[in-house]
Amino acid sequence: MDYQAIVDEALSAAETYRGHGDVASHIPALATVNPKKLGLALVLRDGTTYCAGDADEAFSIQSISTVFTLSLALQHVGGALWNHVGREASGSPLNSLVQLESDKGKPRNPFMNAGAMVVCDQLIGSDDAETAMQELLDFLRERAGEDGIMVDERVAMSESKAGALNRSLAHYVSSFGNLRNPVDEVVSVYFRQCSIAMSCRQLATAALYLACDGTDCRTGTPVLGPERTRRILALMLTCGHYDNSGDFAFRIGLPGKSGSGGGILAVIPGVGAACVWSPGLNAARTSLAGAVALERLVQRTGWSVFV
Ligand code: GLU
Repeated sequence: MDYQAIVDEALSAAETYRGHGDVASHIPALATVNPKKLGLALVLRDGTTYCAGDADEAFSIQSISTVFTLSLALQHVGGALWNHVGREASGSPLNSLVQLESDKGKPRNPFMNAGAMVVCDQLIGSDDAETAMQELLDFLRERAGEDGIMVDERVAMSESKAGALNRSLAHYVSSFGNLRNPVDEVVSVYFRQCSIAMSCRQLATAALYLACDGTDCRTGTPVLGPERTRRILALMLTCGHYDNSGDFAFRIGLPGKSGSGGGILAVIPGVGAACVWSPGLNAARTSLAGAVALERLVQRTGWSVFV
């Protein structure tokens, strides 16, 4: 297949939607991003990479980071993680408080904000916020093969300043005894993981282990293990896109994760990973043009997991 032509075509298909949708504004620093940005990277398991548009420009990865935090937290605590967070699609907005009351402080899944904070708490464990962040950054740098991956401090500060609702979620979870660390430590890791800046190329490269049964695709070195990898992919498919996860599975049929910075990471099991970025979001906060590009990519390649 001529993958470069397919990636170019996927980007052209999304062109009509470039700049459409709303750029996230609940975090003021995200609102300043140019809504016309559009990039796509496809990285195959042997590392061959095909890019189009703004694929090398770093953007705020937001909750795409949870895919990696979850991988690390599972390494730390294994299946005990599921005592603290569920595995069910929520059908609710990412920062909803409502279900937490009936669910007694156990978030429905790791990809909603409250669940991501529980994952951060488990990653911190008996260490501290700084150690957990360092572990996450080291992991991303190693997986992406890029030492320069950093937290965008301007976004982190903005996220913290505008973080009343996220703090409320963490306090609420904590009130049920479902956080072992102080709320301030937990939200500090959460805000900072969301504020990591990476490009489409870096994110797709970093996620390759998820396409190769949890091993480094190129060296075969174990990263996560096949069973945990399968579980993360199942959660990405069912819960990776807020309350439009079903629609994403219907249209694209790949395990994926949306971030409110406009990125979408998609894993093509056995084949590789793709990442698209376009900051304009639909009402459920998935990148509008980004989903169109991935839809075309899958139509042209037949890579839906349901084929
Ligand atoms: N920290 C972001 C927020 O609270 C994460 C959103 C996301 O990308 O899911 O909105």
